[in-house]
Amino acid sequence: MNSKTKYTQRIKSEAKRLGFLSCGISKAEFLEQEAPRLEKWLNQNMHGEMRYMENHFDKRLDPTKLVDDSKSVISLLLNYFPSEKQKDPEAPKLSKYAYGTDYHFVIKDKLKQLLHFIEEEIGEVHGRAFVDSAPVLDKAWAAKSGLGWIGKNSNLLTQQVGSFYFIAELIIDLDLEYDTPVTDHCGTCTACIDACPTQAIVEPYVVDGSKCISYFTIELKEEIPNSYKNQFDDWMFGCDVCQDVCPWNRFSKPHNEPLFNPKPGLLEMSKKDWEEITQEVFSKVFQKSAVKRTKFSGLQRNISFLKK
Ligand code: SF4
Ligand code: SF4
Repeated sequence: MNSKTKYTQRIKSEAKRLGFLSCGISKAEFLEQEAPRLEKWLNQNMHGEMRYMENHFDKRLDPTKLVDDSKSVISLLLNYFPSEKQKDPEAPKLSKYAYGTDYHFVIKDKLKQLLHFIEEEIGEVHGRAFVDSAPVLDKAWAAKSGLGWIGKNSNLLTQQVGSFYFIAELIIDLDLEYDTPVTDHCGTCTACIDACPTQAIVEPYVVDGSKCISYFTIELKEEIPNSYKNQFDDWMFGCDVCQDVCPWNRFSKPHNEPLFNPKPGLLEMSKKDWEEITQEVFSKVFQKSAVKRTKFSGLQRNISFLKK
C-alpha cells in the first residue's frame, strides 16, 4: 500500500472514531462548475441582505487561495438528527439543528482533533478548519467528494441517512486519494418544491435565499416584510420543511453526540411559554446555542410575527 492510500485510510478511520458520519476527499482546486452558478445567484440578489456572501468570490471557489500550497479538501458530515421533537404541536418551531450546543463549537473541536491526529501521525501538515464559514462552498465540496448529491432543495442528500447533518472541511497541504461524486437520486420527486411555505425553491436546485424562512428568522436584522405574514408555518428559528418532506430523510437516524441534546425543558415549552418567554428563560434554554445569533430580541420578533 502506498503512503497516499495509507494516510487516506487513517484519516478516514480517525474521522469515524471522532464521531463523524462520513468523510470524503477532493483535490483542492478551483470549483469550475460552481463559479457561474454562484455568480448568477448573487447577481439575482438571492442572498438578500447577506452581503458578506459577495465577499471573497475567488477565495470561495479556490481553496488554494485560503490555504497556501493546499492539496486536499477533506469534507466531513456530523449527524444532528434528534431522537425527540418539540412536544406541543402548536408551539412555534425551532429548526432541529439548533436544539443543542452551537455546532460551531462542537465541530471545531473535532476538526482540531483530526488535524492534530494528522500532524502527529503523518508529520508536518498545514491546514485550516472550516465550519459553515462564508468562504467555503461546503455542499459543493461534500458532493465532489462523494458524500452525497445536492438535491432540488439545495441540501446535500444521501441515500443512507438523508440530510440532517452539518458539513465541515479541513483544507490541508497533503496529497491524498480523491473520491468521486455519487449520482443524483431526486428523480421526478418535487416534494420539497411543493411543500416550501414561501415558494423559496424557485426552480429545481435553486433556493432564493432572500425568500427562505431561515433567512428571515436568522439572518435578517430588520423587520420581516408583512407580505410574508401567515406564511411561516409556525417556524420561529430556521425551517426544516424541505428536509422533513424529503423521502430520503425516512432514513435519518438519531445522532449520538451528547452536546447536541436539547437543554432540559426546551422541547417541553408550550406555545404560551414561547409567547411569554423572558430574557432569563432565553439565556437558560439557549445557553451556548446557535439561537443566540438572533439574540432575545430577534427571537421575540420572530415569535410575534407568527401571531395571527
Ligand atoms: S428552509 Fe423552508 S423556506 Fe427555506 S427553502 Fe426550505 S422549505 Fe422553503
Ligand atoms: S424532496 Fe424530492 S426533490 Fe426534494 S431534495 Fe428530496 S428527493 Fe430531491
